[in-house]
Amino acid sequence: MRTLTSRSVLASILLLSLTARSEEPLVFETKQLADHIYELSTDAGGYPVKVIASVGDDGVLLVDTGEKEKIDDLKAAVLAFGKGVPRIIISTHAHVEHIGGNATFGGDAVIIGHENLRKRLRTGLYLFDEFPEEALPDICLTDSLSLYFNGEQIKVHAFPGAHDDSDLIIWFTTSKVVCVAGLCNGRHFPSVDKVGGDVLEYPETVQRVIDLLPEDVTIVPGHGEDGTIEDYRAFHAMLVATTDLVRKGIEAGKDRDTLIKEDVLHDWKAWEASYVSADQWIEYLAEGITGVDRKPMVFEPIYYAIRDLGAPAAVLYYHDLKKNKADEYAFDENDLVYIGYKLFKNDRVEESIPFLEASLKESPKGTYAYLCHDYLGRWHTTQGDTARAIRAYERSLKLNPENTHAADMLKELKKK
Ligand SMILES: [Zn+2]
Repeated sequence: MRTLTSRSVLASILLLSLTARSEEPLVFETKQLADHIYELSTDAGGYPVKVIASVGDDGVLLVDTGEKEKIDDLKAAVLAFGKGVPRIIISTHAHVEHIGGNATFGGDAVIIGHENLRKRLRTGLYLFDEFPEEALPDICLTDSLSLYFNGEQIKVHAFPGAHDDSDLIIWFTTSKVVCVAGLCNGRHFPSVDKVGGDVLEYPETVQRVIDLLPEDVTIVPGHGEDGTIEDYRAFHAMLVATTDLVRKGIEAGKDRDTLIKEDVLHDWKAWEASYVSADQWIEYLAEGITGVDRKPMVFEPIYYAIRDLGAPAAVLYYHDLKKNKADEYAFDENDLVYIGYKLFKNDRVEESIPFLEASLKESPKGTYAYLCHDYLGRWHTTQGDTARAIRAYERSLKLNPENTHAADMLKELKKK
């Protein structure tokens, strides 16, 4: 998987889903963590997405529901336990790769989540996902709650504001397993949500989680490797040390680009993950220390403009807002591709095209230009326009030689 170089610090999952090759068949691997606790995970390009299941006489309880595209595989893996569909789902936070099956299971299961999760799924870029009511939490918390399921006390604690503003940890007290989701990323740099997260809150938040837990728990991050409390302390130490290094650099009058050029996190390179490089971690920290632009992003007005005026007019409206309302909204170089991608993925393909084309016009060599060409290739293919499809895939492959989907499609189209 290629390393992202985008300046954007939008929700990491969006970046993940833009780069992951979701066309590949993915099967959930099941690993037993304790007597009746299982970890189901898929490996999307070296980036596992985990679901935790408690399975017993009370039935199935799931922590998170994975990616929407993989719901059939997850359902098969859950049904294989022989205890039926899940009765309870606990959503760790708002990022889409953790809540993709909520809509499917939510009709039968009670969903528990942070109060902010409900709000988030009805605002901003999430509007484009059109989450139905069944996908939203039925029981919301802002502090903590206990539930008793399959013979043990399960403690749920809210720790919002570091990775995202809807973060929960789920602690299976007898099984000694705790799912900390976005609040740990194994021995890798974490991501920080631009809307609900705050990189400077990370060290203290993680310390409070560590203080709450006993020594003998298994720490389960949402993506990184499972570990011990010692591993989690190492993660905390990394947060403290790297924040300190970048802060000292900023205080010495250096800007983000200088710190990247000077490779100030050189000694922490081993913590690079498939989607957060050391440079990107510097970006997160530098932006946090110098102050993040907390203006709302532009997605909500554009969502309603598409509904009321149609996609082409909404693109014009976007350009108008960018020109005249820069003091009201935060803009990102990838806004148009994010919207186009979301529309495409949610079966609004025709409406996505004006956004993908506008994105290419605005930044023909942008981070996700290859993706725009790829999706245009798919569009032309479904329209039966092979010549234009080939051109689109060729452009995509030229910008990103690792785009195997474009390579495969070109082979197939040229056969015809
Ligand atoms: Zn997350």
